[in-house]
Amino acid sequence: MFRKSHLLLSASLLATALTGHLPARARATAAVPTLRYSLAMPAPQTHYFEVKMELGGFPAEYTDVKMPVWAPGSYLVREYAKNVEGFQARTAGGQALAFEKINKNTWRVKHPKQANFQVSYRVYAFELSVRTSFVDADHGYLNGSSVFMYPADNKMLGSTVVVQPAAGWAKVSTALRPAADGAKFTYKAASYDELADSPMEIGNQKVLEFTANGTPHQVAMYGTYQADDAKLAAEMKKVCEEAHRVLGQNPLDHYVFIVHNLERGGGGLEHLYSTTLEVGRTAYGTDAGMKSFLGLVAHEYFHLWNVKRIRPVALGPFNYDQENYTHMLWVSEGMTEYYSKQILQRAGVLSREEYLGKLANAIGEVENTPGNKVQSAAESSFDAWIKYYRPNENAINTQISYYSKGDLIGTWLDLNIAQATQGQKHLDDVFRLLYDTYYKKAGRGFTDQEYQDAVATVAGRRFDDFFQSSVYGTKPIDFATALGYAGLNLTSAPLTTSGTLGATFSNRTGKLLVTSVLRDGAAWNTGLNVNDEILLINGAAPSEETVKSLLNGSVGNEVALQVRRDGLPRDLKIKMLANPDIKFQIQPMPNPTAAQQKVLAKWLGK
Ligand SMILES: [Zn+2]
Repeated sequence: MFRKSHLLLSASLLATALTGHLPARARATAAVPTLRYSLAMPAPQTHYFEVKMELGGFPAEYTDVKMPVWAPGSYLVREYAKNVEGFQARTAGGQALAFEKINKNTWRVKHPKQANFQVSYRVYAFELSVRTSFVDADHGYLNGSSVFMYPADNKMLGSTVVVQPAAGWAKVSTALRPAADGAKFTYKAASYDELADSPMEIGNQKVLEFTANGTPHQVAMYGTYQADDAKLAAEMKKVCEEAHRVLGQNPLDHYVFIVHNLERGGGGLEHLYSTTLEVGRTAYGTDAGMKSFLGLVAHEYFHLWNVKRIRPVALGPFNYDQENYTHMLWVSEGMTEYYSKQILQRAGVLSREEYLGKLANAIGEVENTPGNKVQSAAESSFDAWIKYYRPNENAINTQISYYSKGDLIGTWLDLNIAQATQGQKHLDDVFRLLYDTYYKKAGRGFTDQEYQDAVATVAGRRFDDFFQSSVYGTKPIDFATALGYAGLNLTSAPLTTSGTLGATFSNRTGKLLVTSVLRDGAAWNTGLNVNDEILLINGAAPSEETVKSLLNGSVGNEVALQVRRDGLPRDLKIKMLANPDIKFQIQPMPNPTAAQQKVLAKWLGK
């Protein structure tokens, strides 16, 4: 009972956090609007969901219904309305109502005041990803924000959702709670935010179950896969319980993993009480595959705190009509990535050596990306909508991922907080403070300044210079000093002494094409273009060996290339330059001081 009332409290706080204020038009009326969705897929092989919305008690003479343009967690305008067709509006008695489409994602339905009316439409769903929707003869999957519309002035209105699975399909897996009347496949959503944030898997999926921290967890497994289910559930439980220890409390009464086992996988999207994961169906069979899967589980599960509840102000209440801008995806995504590895290390899935090896590689990945000198983590976050999610051939030269940079910012802050507090505090304490202060007490997100203040409160000192120069600026992060606090040596050396052209190639269509040209490299300086087709290397047709020599030759060597550009041949001579890439290693110091041992113990455990 304690858990239940605690959860009700959390749910109401969340509602406050996501609500904002109802518009005057909705407040002014005495009638309580009602909303009921029906979702059907009578011919799943044709890839359509059919949606009916029954609206009652809407006060004005017209109601605008909207389809979101994006899905929270995936920062790209995807224009879900592009898949809508057959929009209709009718009275409860079945008479056609006039409607008008007033912009790309809004339909204005004219109706008598307070009347009951209904809207119906089809959604073409043939994109199986965690951010979109899909239905075929085998199963249906939907991301709420790409299928369900909402009444523009009543986003916080609760609704009933009735699902009619296709013939022969027996299961619906969703974090939405069953409706009070217990009717089959009937759910309630406390608000549109909850509906949009509760994906559904519909079909005959296998459902695994486990309890973590006293809370029931379901794992809906779509698709063929090879794994020992009991072992898989036990490993997931271990990761969930370790993730829970970071904050020491959670807002859950249930949680649902939807797992799509596909030919290729490797992504996930977080939701309020659930997540969707895409996994390669053979991943569970290898040690590396299993660790990568558990890393994905840890990442998405940690999101139930970080970003779903501990969030920048811009990320809720969501504006589904447009981009929602924040400078802090390096917190929301980068630090989630940091904790994914921390959680695996704490749970014993990764050894300390493996953890430090991954960290050294992560440092190399960021430091060797030319864009790291151009774009800050804050800019990367803000421009996710037009850059990270829309990379072009020059992205490597001009962008840095807020995932990988944020992961390293997390590392630096964690070590510096432990150092500043003589091993008494670490980054977990910052997350605990943010959860209590902004999610539980204030019911809102935090500003950039409030995040930095929270770090300062925990550490007992400010890191303004660091934030300004290395988070909001592009100054290189001093990892060597930070790792030194924990008695670890960071060493670096050139990755290779070979020369390189400084370009990448692909050979997918039988043509050897230039796919990127790295800033300040030999190819960059000489004017090799992306999309140039390499016809001849030193007078001969390209072979596996000569292509390798372009990337791994001798410094100062001149290579003669004939390329085809815009249909015409062109000769280029390119002198190879040294490969600028650095390889990093992290090793324990031989005789760490007691102070260093304390920081290390706080950071990576005893
Ligand atoms: Zn994430």
